[in-house]
Order: sequence, then C-alpha cells, then structure tokens
Amino acid sequence: MGTLSLPRKVSVLGSTGSVGVSTLDLLEKAAVPVEMIALAAGRNVAKLAEQALRWRPQVAVIQDESCLPELRARLDGSGVRAAAGASAVTEAAAMDAQWVMSAIVGFAGLAPTLAAARTGAVIALANKESLVCAGPALLRRARLAGGAVIPVDSEHSAIFQVLEPQNAQQVRRLILTSSGGPFRNATAEEMARATPEQAVAHPNFSMGAKISVDSATMMNKGLEVIEAAYLFAMPPEQIEVLVHPQQIIHSLVEYADGSSLAQLGPPDMRPPIACAFAWPDRLPWPAPRLDLVNSGPLTFHDPDQDRFPALGIAKDALAAGGWAPAAMNAANERAVSAFLDRRIGFLDISGAVAETLERMDRQNLLGDGGDDPVELARATDAAARRVADEVVSGLMAQA
Ligand code: NDP
Repeated sequence: MGTLSLPRKVSVLGSTGSVGVSTLDLLEKAAVPVEMIALAAGRNVAKLAEQALRWRPQVAVIQDESCLPELRARLDGSGVRAAAGASAVTEAAAMDAQWVMSAIVGFAGLAPTLAAARTGAVIALANKESLVCAGPALLRRARLAGGAVIPVDSEHSAIFQVLEPQNAQQVRRLILTSSGGPFRNATAEEMARATPEQAVAHPNFSMGAKISVDSATMMNKGLEVIEAAYLFAMPPEQIEVLVHPQQIIHSLVEYADGSSLAQLGPPDMRPPIACAFAWPDRLPWPAPRLDLVNSGPLTFHDPDQDRFPALGIAKDALAAGGWAPAAMNAANERAVSAFLDRRIGFLDISGAVAETLERMDRQNLLGDGGDDPVELARATDAAARRVADEVVSGLMAQA
C-alpha cells in the first residue's frame, strides 16, 4: 500500500448487515492487511460464524444469547472466541481496534459506539441513530479520547469530503440529497395501502429493512438532518433537503461566495466506507466507476412535506433539542417495527411518531436522566418506546 497510513486493527459491529457486509467486501477487494479484532451481530449466527472463519477475529459476538451454543459449535477448533449478549457486544467494541465500523441498526448501536469512542479509535459511523440520540456526547467522547468520528452515511461522507475546515464559517447551506424513496411518485392513497415489501424496495440501494422503511417515509432524511447538525455543528435552518432520484450527487456545501461543492459517486456504500477507512488518504481498490454518460439526466426537486411529514417532525425535534430527537428515534423504531410486522399501516408510522412526541410532551413522561446526556438518551428511549407501543396498540384497536 505504498506510503498510505491505514488502520490495521479493525472491528466491524453489525458485520452481518448490509453495511457490515459491504465493509468486509471492501476490505477483501482492497486486499489490505487487517487484523480483525471483533465481529458482532444480532442473531444471524450462520453468517457471523462464516465471517469469523474467514476473518479470524479475536472474538465473534452475537447479541442474542440463545444463539451462543450454535456460535460456539460453528467456531469450534477455529481459535475464535465466541461471546453473546448486549454487554459482550459493548465489551467487544471497547477492545483494542484502531478502526471500528459502527453498523448496528438502531438505538442498540449507541452503547457499543460510545464504548468504541472512549478507546480513541476512529469510528466509521453508519449507525446514525446513536448520533441522533446522543450526538454531542458521542462526538465529545471521541474527541477527548483522541479519536474521530467519520461519517459513512453517503450524504454525510459527501459533506465531510467537501466541507473545508478553514471555511466552515463561510458555509451558507448544507444540502442533503435524497432519492425520495420508493414512494416518491406515489399518491397518498397508494401510500396508505403500501405493504412492507413495497416499502423496503429502495430504488437504488439494497439496505436493511429498518433504514429502507425510513427511506420510504423520509424519516431517514429527517434523521440525517439531525446527524448533519451535530456532525458539522450547523444550525437547523442552514440544512436543506433536495430530492435527487438518481443519487449520483451525494450532497453539497454552498459557500458564501456563491460556490457550491458537491461529491459524486455511484450509488454504492463501499466508496464512503473506503473514505472513512483511509481518511485522509484515498484507498485504492477496484471501485465501481462513475459513468456520467450513461447515468441519464440528473434531476432535482423539493421534498413534498405533506406526503412525507416525517421530515418536518425530525426538523421540529432537532429545533426542540434536549430529549426530543432520542424520543423521536425510539418512537420511529417501534412504529417501523409495527409496520414491518403488519400491525399498522405505512402512513401510521409518521402519525405514531408525532403522537408519541405529543403525549410525551403533554405528560412530561421523561425518565430521570440527571445531567448525563447519555443517561438522558437511555431514559428517554425507554420512556418513548413505552408510549409508542401504547400509541401503536391504539392504532391497531381503531383498524
Ligand atoms: P441491517 O439491518 O442490514 O444490519 C444491521 C446489523 O446490526 C446486522 O449485522 C444485525 O445483526 C446487527 N444488529 C441488529 N441488532 C443488533 C443488536 N441489538 N446488537 C448487535 N447487533 C445487532 O442494517 P444496515 O446495514 O442497512 O444499516 C446499519 C446502520 O447503518 C443503520 O443505522 C442504518 O441507518 C445505517 N446506514 C445504512 C446504509 C445502508 O446502505 N444500508 C446507508 C447509511 C447508513 P443480524 O444480521 O444478526 O440481525
């Protein structure tokens, strides 16, 4: 690798998911010499074991403890230690890696990401929910430990690459692009009838179920606005969303002098992962090429706030600050899960999130988080999940 300074000791949290698999594929294709420290997953024991036999980490962790006997059996004689449980995932995240891919989905990613941040490792952050729920605390911990958080979300990776630190004060707007999701052109009636299968069929990316539904409601873009506000210390009114169905331009930074810098690439998560892996260097690997000649016209339009209320809900939560983003995230996780289980309809997702936030506000239902922002996020998450489940039950009773 010539003079590149690349991390050697690597952990991948959420290794069996869409981003985790892309990460391992990138490392394989780039043929970089890595020492795998930990691989962690939720319950896909067969895939985790297969990855562990290939990458020989010090430890392979499965969050679901009932999977431990099978994981042990599959790894028998391999020399890879098997572990299980949420605390084992967090312990694995705190091991001696220089680079940690944080790609667990949902609030479950917060504790391991914080644990990795405390070690001073570089965190390649895909798990946007941890940033939404405890962004400032997470970034502070990473900074104090001498580490860094490098975004993997393609939009934030784009901004990260074109935001000139010396000109941060001269940024007029961050413009996050969005595919618009599978229901970009759907009528409200079609959306009301949408099935989980239709909602997870993202036009450009094959992603995990939760983020696919978030893309369909545009809550994903809402989470990303919050993510951008924290990552780039940008006030909400300077962050805008632009629908760009082809997803070639991954985001833009507009400067005060009238120049806008954009980052382009094919719709593929491996280039932003490569960027987070090698930054400030550039990783040579057989990357897919951007073929602008055959990309067709690039089109843009404003998001439809009426059909996609989640975007406004997220902006309001960001403006409210405090517990609101974590409560919104928890309510969304519960509502998406209810939709995927066919307990509520597609349009109920955003309705349930809004109703949860309103009830929490009215009833002042926050747990006692004291002054610790991470404890506040945990208490808020637990309280919001309870309220969201009540709201979901109410919607089911009405149906
Ligand atoms: P997936 O659902 O495909 O994968 C999630 C991963 O997390 C799996 O490895 C899963 O294990 C693991 N997991 C789930 N719950 C737990 C838990 N409690 N403890 C430990 N591991 C757990 O999701 P994606 O890869 O699509 O997304 C991951 C994160 O990256 C999300 O936060 C998403 O928003 C973000 N992201 C994803 C992008 C994409 O292109 N997919 C793009 C940008 C951001 P198992 O397989 O065993 O269930």
